[in-house]
Amino acid sequence: MKQLLLISLLTLYAFVARSQQLASSETQNELLPVTGFDFSANAEKITADILQVLGLQADFRIKAARVPNVEAVVRRGHRFIRYNPAFVNDLNKRSRDRWCSVFILAHEIGHHLSGHTVMRRKDRTHAIELDADEFAGFVMRRMGATLEQARLAVMYVANPVTTRTHPGTADRMLAVEKGWNKSMP
Ligand SMILES: [Zn+2]
Repeated sequence: MKQLLLISLLTLYAFVARSQQLASSETQNELLPVTGFDFSANAEKITADILQVLGLQADFRIKAARVPNVEAVVRRGHRFIRYNPAFVNDLNKRSRDRWCSVFILAHEIGHHLSGHTVMRRKDRTHAIELDADEFAGFVMRRMGATLEQARLAVMYVANPVTTRTHPGTADRMLAVEKGWNKSMP
């Protein structure tokens, strides 16, 4: 009898957890439409949402630029996130998931907040990329992303193999997962 009660409670718990998960992803759906999702038009809003879940006030200027993909830089005392429009739009088209954009912006905000953008270039190792990924995983869960949604975003953004600048997908996924696990919805 006790066992049956335990099983019922566990089932109920799983059901409630799942409903909460659905509710939070539905809220997110309302915030950012999937169809015709445009990075440039939504980047400021996503950044504001990220800062809101962190309870932070900060000034990040998001700009389209001629950069290889996306980067965090400080210029004349201002914090910028510069993106290549073709790169982000292609990513959104392929993934058909707004979480890719959230991941990208959270990762770059992570670089800014962790002081990576003011480090000497030679000190910017793969480790700082994993730190930014962990931060992005943390933020994504706060914003309602499931672990699966967070992992998928990395899959689209990361390179399968390690490159000169970035670790490969498997390592980056682990970092995102670590951040997601440390966080709370
Ligand atoms: Zn990075």
